[in-house]
Amino acid sequence: MVNYLPRSAWNARPPKDGPGNLTVSRVEGAVIHWPGTGSTKVIHTQAAVASALRGWQDYHMDTRGWSDIAYQVAVDQSGRAWTLRGLRTQSGANGDNDVNERYGAILLVLVTGEQPSAAMKATTRAVIADFRKLYPRGTAIRPHSAVRPEPTDCPGDPARAAIARGDFTPGHSEDDDMTPAQMQELKNFIEARSQAYALWVHKQLRRDLTAVVKAYALDIKNYERQTDAADAARAAAAVWATAPKNLQADGTPTTPEPVTPDPTTTPDPSLPDLDPFPTVDEHPTPNGSNNPA
Ligand SMILES: [Zn+2]
Repeated sequence: MVNYLPRSAWNARPPKDGPGNLTVSRVEGAVIHWPGTGSTKVIHTQAAVASALRGWQDYHMDTRGWSDIAYQVAVDQSGRAWTLRGLRTQSGANGDNDVNERYGAILLVLVTGEQPSAAMKATTRAVIADFRKLYPRGTAIRPHSAVRPEPTDCPGDPARAAIARGDFTPGHSEDDDMTPAQMQELKNFIEARSQAYALWVHKQLRRDLTAVVKAYALDIKNYERQTDAADAARAAAAVWATAPKNLQADGTPTTPEPVTPDPTTTPDPSLPDLDPFPTVDEHPTPNGSNNPA
């Protein structure tokens, strides 16, 4: 149940004799309107809405000669609901007597190009729920442009889109405010981000792996060169040690001193200096292997 501001809140004039109450069995639904100010100057504060309603009442009663402001209820962007004729009284807003008998009339206080706020939508849903309690068969929610015999832009494109989305339908959850197209767009966005992240991780791992492969290749190259040098030195020492050098007086060779290779043997200084940072192939072959040359 909506808390409706009374007519006194907008300083309404008393209505003249009018069409009376709607006939419950004839009512098919509610029609959504806007003021059609032709301006983009918003009408948001309570004072501004009250003043605007009074102006539209004057116009409808004095210029158009109607009994009262044409609509049943107004809803503004702050979610205030205003009693105009009230939901029981037939409106004069829909276009002719037939559509006025078949539909209620709810005014959304929107100006040109303005999107209905979440508060406006929530209150409008509640007003329509109240409407349906009075008129159980009156479940349709139509833009004025869909029922008026003459063409009209009312209630403007944003409200028409909101009606089409079901934004004013009671029970509609704000959580469902995304259209299927918006939902798909979000899904695509998340998938694209996930793929980009997976690619980034892949590249990062590959780069790390390449660095590790390079470091290993360098280690192996150094180790092999040092080992070669040490082995060569040990082999030379062994050969030297077993070579017959001295004969004793009786012609028998002296027993050679056994030679134990010194594990700390340093490479022959005549060997070329080892490059502690040999050049490593900066462009590994496609299979990722390095070929230390
Ligand atoms: Zn209208």
